[in-house]
Amino acid sequence: ADAERTQPTLTRSTCCYCGVGCGVLIESEGDRITGVRGDPSHPANFGRLCTKGLTLAQTAQSLTGRALYPEMRLSRESPRQRTDWDSALDTAAERFADIVRQHGPDAVAFYVSGQLLTEDYYVFNKLAKGVIGTNNIDTNSRLCMSSSVTAYKQALGADGPPTCYEDLELADCVLFAGSNMAYAHPVLFRRLEDAKARRPATRWIVIDPRRTDTAAMADLHLQITPGSDVALFNGMLHHLIWEGLTAPAYIAAHTDGFAALKQVVRDYTPRLAAEMCGILEADLIQAAEWFGRSPASLSLYCMGLNQSAHGTDKNLALINLHLACGQIGRPGAGPFSLTGQPNAMGGREVGGMATMLAAHRDIDNAGHRAEVAHFWGVPALSGRPGTPAVAMFDALRRGEIKAIWIACTNPAHSMPDLNSVREALGKAEFVVLQEAFADTDTAAYADVLLPATTWGEKSGTVTNSERRISRVREAVPAPGETRPDWWIACEVARRLEVLLRPAQLSRFGYATPEAIFAEHRALTEGRDLDIGGLSYAMLERAGPQQWPLPAGAAQGQARRYTDGVFAHADGLARFKPTAFQPLAEPTNARYPFHLLTGRLRDQWHGMSRTGRLPQLFEHAPEPSLSMHPLDAERRGFKAGDLLKVSSKRGQLVLPLQLSDELSSGSVFAAMHWNGRFLGSGGINETSLATVDRQSFQPELKHAAVRVEAADLP
Ligand code: SF4
Repeated sequence: ADAERTQPTLTRSTCCYCGVGCGVLIESEGDRITGVRGDPSHPANFGRLCTKGLTLAQTAQSLTGRALYPEMRLSRESPRQRTDWDSALDTAAERFADIVRQHGPDAVAFYVSGQLLTEDYYVFNKLAKGVIGTNNIDTNSRLCMSSSVTAYKQALGADGPPTCYEDLELADCVLFAGSNMAYAHPVLFRRLEDAKARRPATRWIVIDPRRTDTAAMADLHLQITPGSDVALFNGMLHHLIWEGLTAPAYIAAHTDGFAALKQVVRDYTPRLAAEMCGILEADLIQAAEWFGRSPASLSLYCMGLNQSAHGTDKNLALINLHLACGQIGRPGAGPFSLTGQPNAMGGREVGGMATMLAAHRDIDNAGHRAEVAHFWGVPALSGRPGTPAVAMFDALRRGEIKAIWIACTNPAHSMPDLNSVREALGKAEFVVLQEAFADTDTAAYADVLLPATTWGEKSGTVTNSERRISRVREAVPAPGETRPDWWIACEVARRLEVLLRPAQLSRFGYATPEAIFAEHRALTEGRDLDIGGLSYAMLERAGPQQWPLPAGAAQGQARRYTDGVFAHADGLARFKPTAFQPLAEPTNARYPFHLLTGRLRDQWHGMSRTGRLPQLFEHAPEPSLSMHPLDAERRGFKAGDLLKVSSKRGQLVLPLQLSDELSSGSVFAAMHWNGRFLGSGGINETSLATVDRQSFQPELKHAAVRVEAADLP
């Protein structure tokens, strides 16, 4: 029998979870994925995987909850029925076209996802902006990294981190800001741990209101009051300026705006800043000294800075520190925003957001619009601003947007203020859901459900946190009647072209994702993210590559701005003075607790994949609300008690877990648990929809809440 056993087929691909972008080797036999292991040749992980990546084979095998056939319903009152692809696509396209004809192109919207591959994203963006003529396409990446995008553009002149993963091993001081990297980017964290073991003098500073597993490993944990990051960074900069630890020659040669920054930072004495942050002045000074005096300082930051009504300011205040000390554009130094999703970066590259155009072009730049319109062969692109995620669902609720196409994401779980989002989806005239899973919180609202292929079944590319583009490859055939996301988007685009632009030749005749990639590549030429020299053939031959990689380059560029020339027209980086601003929703007598949200080690987003494997619950078996033991004792709560957590917007019931990782006055809940586990949408029942005015990213990390014993029947 052994002799008869066939060898498994090996397919090189990329993990579908976080922005680390680990390379994987998929073993398959027939239509089954039988194993997944780390790809030793991939430069992100060199063969390592975390628990989520290591269990990909098991989670991929299950068809539980999968959407396998197109479904449609004739009225809101009737259940969806199985249908065929042509009927579903014709209906979806006709309803969208009708609404566009009656109410104009901005009456429809697309809400897509950082889980999509770059090729999927590209086609959706072209469909919305090039065929329908609306900039109403936004993504769940808006909830994750748009503050970083905005800050990079303002300070450095272009989106994208200046750093690379190798910098983790070369930094002498690592400053983690709002990042529980041990859980959210585990394989990178292992790289950092190895580097620290080799170079124990490397200093780790962790800024986090919780003593996370990342903070527990730090040389210095600054357990700041929630939302006080800008005061901290300004206080650190004050110390650096007045102690002569900045880099005057670098500031003079490569930056603009230092005098104005100095004026603002003057007020943030270390004593005052430390008081605002609820930490010791000596600790703030220690952090500034390590950051300023280290030969190479690297900051790693994530949702703790981004998911805030002042997320852009928090990013900018941190970048100010790097520019002032010349800690950028050198090995081991720079501000490094870590992306949450596997392809949030790819979405930025193709311009798949309401606030940007393809290849880092701007909607409000008439020249950029003309370039893209010419390239796509359409008369013009709309200059009207698109509607970013939170405003999109608000407009849907008010009836200004009448139809929405949701692809590969679960807004009825992940958006803030879920009552309002559910109301929006309930009021929408028409909802299309393109999804691999049929049992998400959002699926209940779909008039048309289009079953999509998912990881292991589809091909394309993704870009990880260090700007590295990797191939994702199909290892097994698509189950049921599922289809790739790019194919679905092209099919509806072709129908809408006929309905809305009949004189126009179809621009969606791609036979493969490779053809889409080639078109995307051509649009990047001459731009800061130029990948004119990159092709599927090169990725096959030379492995994953970082952008930029212009025509003729032998490989991608590891670091940016190494020559001190930034992407602003004059080549200078900009200091952006930022002032501390209070939380969007301060605590008060009625809502006295800071509710902090975050991730669990072994779960991913809304658990549509990880939530189906028992072994991934061993680390955190059930939802819970963490509270400091002193706060619990004062209120007479015991571990395991069911508590009602309420904000001004909504509530949910969770069992109590005692934790001294939090300061008194704060409680914590993980963001993953959803309707399948709770019977409600999860912690976003309580979160608020206030957004950053520059990046439009909502304050998902914090809300003021009340906690009381649950009064259960
Ligand atoms: Fe996947 Fe991220 Fe884990 Fe790597 S670190 S295996 S990309 S979840």
